[in-house]
Amino acid sequence: MLPRVLVIAGSDSSGGAGLEADQRVLTAHGVYSLTATTGLTAQNTLGVQDIHVVPAGFVKKQINVALEDVGADAVKLGMLSSAETVDVIAEELKKHNVKTIVLDPVMISTSGSQLLPQNAISHVRTNLLPLATVLTPNIPEAKLLLENAGQPAVSEPENVNEMIELAKKVQGLGSKTVLLKGGHLPLTADRVRANSLAEAKIVVDVLYSGDGDEVMLTETEYLTSKNTHGTGCSLASAIAANLAKGNDLKTSVRSAIKYVEAGIKLSVDMGQGSGPINHFH
Ligand code: PLP
Repeated sequence: MLPRVLVIAGSDSSGGAGLEADQRVLTAHGVYSLTATTGLTAQNTLGVQDIHVVPAGFVKKQINVALEDVGADAVKLGMLSSAETVDVIAEELKKHNVKTIVLDPVMISTSGSQLLPQNAISHVRTNLLPLATVLTPNIPEAKLLLENAGQPAVSEPENVNEMIELAKKVQGLGSKTVLLKGGHLPLTADRVRANSLAEAKIVVDVLYSGDGDEVMLTETEYLTSKNTHGTGCSLASAIAANLAKGNDLKTSVRSAIKYVEAGIKLSVDMGQGSGPINHFH
């Protein structure tokens, strides 16, 4: 039997992010993908021009038919499009007793488009976070989730300890674990390791298991490529693929980070703006 992942997310007509990237990642991992499409975007490498939201009732049907027939070893959640859709997704995942859920809290695209309406954030927080095996926010998303929960505004983390504190706060909102992604805020080496000089920039990702001091840190060289479109989607899908294959969370996260790093390094320019990563490696 092939490992199976159900992706509940939006389509990116430019092919770099969203469902199109997710399916490429899953194929590259030898994992079968099913989809429930929450919305269609008209976008290219320069940005999102428009979004066509799929009615929540139809998303519900897509999830239901997928899970009652083929089934899924893991579910990946990306762009969710509306508060109503968030609610039906939570209902369906509970109804089908889905245990392995990777929740990428997609809210605003790098190009600045609102991919989840403001009123849906509290629905994600209240209804989906408690179901998530792992939540994968970047720093702006982590801050938005905390603000939405009425917590005092958090300043940008300036070192590894502040990143760990932020990851712990976000985990406190209800997901089992949190992978806080540091790509938006690379740290200079002296902020990461004692006795290092500040010349190199390092991306630190923090996986907090929700269990006391259990923290896994990964360090990756900061890559200054413009081709980072879809990195968040791809990372979450790679984690879901690895979990669906039966790997533990730490192994899955480490492998997914390496997959995306290679995808950025091997990317080729496409379009005039932020191009996709390369999945053919
Ligand atoms: N479009 C869709 C459908 C997405 O799901 C996402 C991210 O999850 C994006 C666009 C934005 O991707 P990025 O922020 O990498 O440009």
